[in-house]
Amino acid sequence: MSKNKKNLTLEEASLQKIISHAKEYGFVFPSSDIYDGLQAVYDYGQNGVELKNNLKEAWWKAMTMLHDNVVGIDAAIFMHPTVWKASGHVDSFNDPMVDNKDSKKRYRVDHLFEAKAAAYSEEGKEDEAQALIARMNQLLTDENLEGLRQLLIEEGIVCPIAKTNNWTEVRQFNLMFATQIGSVAEESNTVYLRPETAQGIFTNFQNVQQTSRQKVPFGIAQIGKAFRNEIVARQFIFRMREFEQMEMQFFVRPGTQKEWFEYWKEKRYQFLLALGLPKEKLRFHEHEKPAHYADAAFDIEYDFPFGFRELEGIHSRTDFDLKQHQAYVKKNLNYFDQEVEEKDKQRYLPYVVETSIGADRLFLAILSNAYTEDYGVDAKGNEKVRTYLKIHPAIAPVKVAVLPLLRKQNLPTKAKEVFEMLRYDMATIYEERGAIGKNYTRMDMIGVPFCITVDHQTLEDETVTLRHRDTTTQERVAITDLHNKLSEAVSMKRIFEKLI
Ligand code: ATP
Repeated sequence: MSKNKKNLTLEEASLQKIISHAKEYGFVFPSSDIYDGLQAVYDYGQNGVELKNNLKEAWWKAMTMLHDNVVGIDAAIFMHPTVWKASGHVDSFNDPMVDNKDSKKRYRVDHLFEAKAAAYSEEGKEDEAQALIARMNQLLTDENLEGLRQLLIEEGIVCPIAKTNNWTEVRQFNLMFATQIGSVAEESNTVYLRPETAQGIFTNFQNVQQTSRQKVPFGIAQIGKAFRNEIVARQFIFRMREFEQMEMQFFVRPGTQKEWFEYWKEKRYQFLLALGLPKEKLRFHEHEKPAHYADAAFDIEYDFPFGFRELEGIHSRTDFDLKQHQAYVKKNLNYFDQEVEEKDKQRYLPYVVETSIGADRLFLAILSNAYTEDYGVDAKGNEKVRTYLKIHPAIAPVKVAVLPLLRKQNLPTKAKEVFEMLRYDMATIYEERGAIGKNYTRMDMIGVPFCITVDHQTLEDETVTLRHRDTTTQERVAITDLHNKLSEAVSMKRIFEKLI
């Protein structure tokens, strides 16, 4: 459309632009907005919920429909409190935090060191960067966290706001939200809002295995809410206190975890590409020091408006969780593998390869990647910008808008016929108010891939104008061809085809 066409990079389309756009066009609102919000808690609006549902559907089907050996469950948020003792969350689901006494701001200590290491790297001091992270990791394992405070001071790390190093002592902060079940507030009634969905899968391993007739290797997938009392909750829906996870635990024979780990790493990467995220904005990051339960861990990082950050984690979790639950419940959770020939090796606790992605982080990646500004000049030579969301048609919140050119001469009646023909099979909206140009602009902002305009010619020859969002090109299409053409274009099959 324009001479100086320029798609803004993520960095240019700052986070603020994305946040404003998300609010203005009904994607994401701050929670309890009329009360000025609640930190790190967000609500999804009329378009946001559709986009998020589509992402969840794509993930769910890619897991369960495309894999004969993956089934789904939906476990409760509340679980027996001992689950979290067994999983290690009660004792060690902590983040180290420190406060600056001058600004009264609280920070995650590891984030402060990571920022310093990144600054070293930028100055070309890669050795210093690596040494700092190694030193921090070492000190994090100490019972006494004073060493971390000393290192903050030694490294000259100051509070970004107060610019001083007037730090409090470093403390561990447990991220789980606790509440009471029943009416009596006693310690024994304490339950937690789950900080991850994975444990609902581990505790159901035997139930699912025995009732689904699945044999190892097989996986259990789940989508659900998780809650973490994050210390520093900034960056919009990237780090929330209430969020949604899409996790899949794949149970394998011990010794085969490495090959399954590679398999799922590749599958998950392909899934993100199929949703339309570009290769250059995705990268793998290997954890040098995986969590206590894992023998290998990779993140898939996405280049968010604030840089590359974890989008998804792929972890080889060994038999840690099943072993822990087995020890706590004092029941045998072994799997009997008839395909193993050696008798003494037939019973075992499966190893687990986990893939875990936040639905909200995926939403933010998709939204920030989709946000596009095309620069051009209008007929009078003035610069103009066209903003639109370039979302894959299969996951776009609204697929089609039907617009009569005028609110008279039977055009609305005809347009409603077209709307009725499409609305039951794809998310379609009908709009007869406003000028056509303004309506196109609004649909672009929501990411509607197709607009259908019913005009005078429609009444003569039963054709409509079909406008394509990304190119703004228009074509004349017979009404009788619309349903097939559009169903094909917006079908999730277009994503799944790339995954088989
Ligand atoms: P981070 O290091 O960013 O805190 P994490 O390593 O603790 O993340 P995991 O425990 O591996 O995250 O959780 C799996 C996925 O859940 C993450 O990759 C992310 O997409 C999502 N997730 C985790 N914490 C949050 C949060 N506070 N808000 C939104 N999504 C989250």
